[in-house]
Amino acid sequence: MMKLGVMGGTFDPVHYGHLVAAEGVRYEYRLDKVIFVPAGRPPHKPNYRISDPEHRLALVRLAVASNPFFEVSDLEIERPGLSYTYDTIREMRRLHDPDEIYFITGADAVLEILSWHRFEELLEICRFIAATRPGYELGGLTGRLRELPAHLVERIVPVEVPALAISSSDIRRRVREGRPIKYLLPESVEAYILSRALYKSELHQDQSFCK
Ligand code: NAP
Repeated sequence: MMKLGVMGGTFDPVHYGHLVAAEGVRYEYRLDKVIFVPAGRPPHKPNYRISDPEHRLALVRLAVASNPFFEVSDLEIERPGLSYTYDTIREMRRLHDPDEIYFITGADAVLEILSWHRFEELLEICRFIAATRPGYELGGLTGRLRELPAHLVERIVPVEVPALAISSSDIRRRVREGRPIKYLLPESVEAYILSRALYKSELHQDQSFCK
């Protein structure tokens, strides 16, 4: 039985919280591999500034290099148009023919699942692992999920990941302010960020500014 993990996120930048989450879920659910899929054009952030896909992809490639169970796909980055998870999972099924797919992402993103493209069909074709940060109020998630049919609610499992105390937005802020990011992400990722001067500009203040 082939079980595939698909790790979806903007990864701007990828950090140890993501890596620990993916490795923990891989082990817990006995996944054969986890494929990281940096979002191309996130559907819910059409006006938000995110780093160039080539950088986010390069950072994820560096981050997963030492784990034989991890892979990276540029499928969303290469696909034109908005990056709908439904299309991604369909494509993953076609490419890898797994028996089961586990889509792993942040619980904050899963909170909005009722607004996602073809979400009911999406939940029929994959399970969701919603990674939460320490202190994350699960009530919001379970309350929101109550609107879903029970057989679909069962397809979403929240998992607490203490390492997700690390966040991409905090890392971007630290770089901008010249504070250290060492030990928050792999050294190769840190070196890439610093050598390309990523996250230095005012444009990366936070996620609330428009292009
Ligand atoms: P996001 O707003 O960047 O992230 C939401 C929260 O989840 C943040 O706190 C983030 O922390 C965390 N997070 C993101 N990815 C994670 C991961 N793989 N593991 C653990 N925590 C994670 O959301 P996003 O990254 O753009 O979206 C998440 C995924 O959902 C993407 O694959 C996106 O394409 C998909 N999505 C699909 C639709 C749709 O199909 N209509 C709509 C929305 C989202 P960090 O900032 O520290 O990463």
